[in-house]
Amino acid sequence: MERADRFRDPGVRLWHFAKEILVRCPRCDGRALVAVHPEHRDGHAYAVGWLTAPHRLTCAGCSYVAEWTPRPWRTGAGDAYFAGRGVLVVPELGGPDDPYFGRPLWLRGACCGRVLWAYNLAHLELLEAYVRARLRERPESPGSQTLLERLPAWMKAAANRDEVLAAIGALRDLA
Ligand SMILES: [Zn+2]
Repeated sequence: MERADRFRDPGVRLWHFAKEILVRCPRCDGRALVAVHPEHRDGHAYAVGWLTAPHRLTCAGCSYVAEWTPRPWRTGAGDAYFAGRGVLVVPELGGPDDPYFGRPLWLRGACCGRVLWAYNLAHLELLEAYVRARLRERPESPGSQTLLERLPAWMKAAANRDEVLAAIGALRDLA
């Protein structure tokens, strides 16, 4: 077996890619960016710190800007983060819309009767390397399930490899 056919799960979680989320601009439908507000970018000891920090949507194409402010947690609102500034709701990552503004992701497309999506190019490239590999190796350090371990079965199925790679290739051209 060729070395290039082997791929070891680097152990990353979806939140690793959530710092830069490409979305469709609500005004011009072009590519916009959702990221932590520049004034709140640094000083977070844990990922949950910046995940719950104020976020901003910016569109380079039409100069549209929107702000997202953290929401106070209440019963049933999801995971809670006990921050110095109160108890906040941790935005739920996953799915083909961004977790802050609810905008459709820029990198999303139909595939195998489902929706294939990625937050950004690095995320897409990880999916591509994984799907392309003939031998997929588990991450070296155990822990909660990684992004790749949580992928739906249709993306992991060998029978879908060509279709999934084609869909990823089409999205790569957009990124
Ligand atoms: Zn725009």
